[in-house]
Amino acid sequence: MGILIKNGLIIDGSGVSGIEADILIQGDKISQISPNIKENAHHIIDARGKIVSPGFIDIHNHADLTILEANKAEAFVEQGITTLLACVCGIGVAPANEKVKQYYFDFVNKAFCSSPDLYENMSKFHEALEKKGVSINLAFMIPQGNVRACIMGTDTRPANESELNEMRKIVRENMKAGAFGLSTGLVYPPGSSTSTEELIEISKIVSEYNGFYDSHMRNEGAGVIEIGMNELIRIAREANVRAHISHWSVISRYKYEELTNKAINLVNSVREEGLNITADLTVYDDGFTSLSFVLLPTWVYDDFEGNLSNPEIRKRIKKEIFDKLYSMFLSDAPFSMKIIPKFLLRKKIIPLLSKGVIVIYALKNHEIEGKTLYEILSTLYPEKELEDALLDYFLDEEGGIMIRIQQKNEDLSMIPLFKQEYVSPSSDAILILGRNTHPRAFGAFPRVIARWVREQKLFSLEEMIRKMTSLPASILGLSDRGIIQEGKKADIVIFDLEMINERGTLKNGCQPPIGIDHVIINGQITVLKGKHTGTLNGQILKHIRQNVD
Ligand SMILES: [Zn+2]
Repeated sequence: MGILIKNGLIIDGSGVSGIEADILIQGDKISQISPNIKENAHHIIDARGKIVSPGFIDIHNHADLTILEANKAEAFVEQGITTLLACVCGIGVAPANEKVKQYYFDFVNKAFCSSPDLYENMSKFHEALEKKGVSINLAFMIPQGNVRACIMGTDTRPANESELNEMRKIVRENMKAGAFGLSTGLVYPPGSSTSTEELIEISKIVSEYNGFYDSHMRNEGAGVIEIGMNELIRIAREANVRAHISHWSVISRYKYEELTNKAINLVNSVREEGLNITADLTVYDDGFTSLSFVLLPTWVYDDFEGNLSNPEIRKRIKKEIFDKLYSMFLSDAPFSMKIIPKFLLRKKIIPLLSKGVIVIYALKNHEIEGKTLYEILSTLYPEKELEDALLDYFLDEEGGIMIRIQQKNEDLSMIPLFKQEYVSPSSDAILILGRNTHPRAFGAFPRVIARWVREQKLFSLEEMIRKMTSLPASILGLSDRGIIQEGKKADIVIFDLEMINERGTLKNGCQPPIGIDHVIINGQITVLKGKHTGTLNGQILKHIRQNVD
């Protein structure tokens, strides 16, 4: 009985060369690997000419926002992902209380055009998922935004000692329930107003459970080192915690190579010193995010409509937006640019940047989707200066504007970062059910194999598969997944190296890839000949303290 995979080229995830052999799966495990297995099986897969790999592990995914509705997770499973980590970037559906519901998620929902059910804690969320059934293995972080909002709502002041204690309690409770660590989104509220010291304090609890600190850093642009990475390293050091850089990016208009090299040297040197720092990389040169979540200060959401309609308050909002853009994009500008007075830069920066921003999805006005922000603002608000037009646009869309922004350089930055042995690819998927999204939600993993292995030959297939499987498994501390070995869980992908590719486009990001024939999750065929079978055999993974060394 069981499943027998015949004649495939097995690339086991460890990075070593592939071998041709058969694999016998019984129950949820790989029971035998050897040539010419003669066992009777109820399902025989002929994998001749195909690659047999461990299922891909996506270490950065926003699936928690939609997984209860989209519990078959077709977008992810059909691209070969068998395990994913969610509740990242400091945002997630658990833990939540009335304060989170009332304040925090009010604007998360606005910003991300979603309205998921929220759960009091990780255990309740796990229960709901187990009851519903899911197709994919799910692991979760504790989102710091929720933790802080549970205690402080949208207050931006520093936490006092008793509030800090309450936060420690929440982190402890959820670590005990099996969370893998703490995630932060330090460009988004309320992470953006959280001090490093506060993050160190709650990360100490994560460290007690040998979880990891996973951060969308405070700055990924010109200040990526001084503001972003130095903070992450300080937290790793002072909280004595493993730290992971979410979607590692170095975004610079002027000094790509220099900044990228510095970033790499910094991580390598602290790793040598003994700090456990890892990273993942989103494999597209553009980002996908919520425009309002990135740009608007936290306090605006306290009274979204009121603040954005009040002329005096609008002045303050415009200034804060400019300061943020300046620190992200201009602080490394050449001297000739820096001597331009700020009031003049203010006139230039939004026209300049908005030409590189494409609106993929807007809450109300769908007709403008696919156009640049610049075109949209100048068409919809022809009478207004762009700064004002932008605020009106936020108001009219209630903040629900998802954008794609061209920002990274593949050759000068992404590939050098990705070449580091401790960097995994990730999808950073955000699904908006029934609407368009960035193609990465459907095709990030096939894309990297097609583009960086088959076409550009930058990585061997063995190394790429290691980065997609055993590396993220080790970051998560999953000792029974991410590798094809007798006795390990049977999470397996079978694909055609000549065929595999993504199919998503800017106009339609929601297209399944090609070249992935079978996906097996916990010993059950979940994708057959490229199509989801409806099988719900995913598990909710729980971090166990003693599992990690
Ligand atoms: Zn993020």
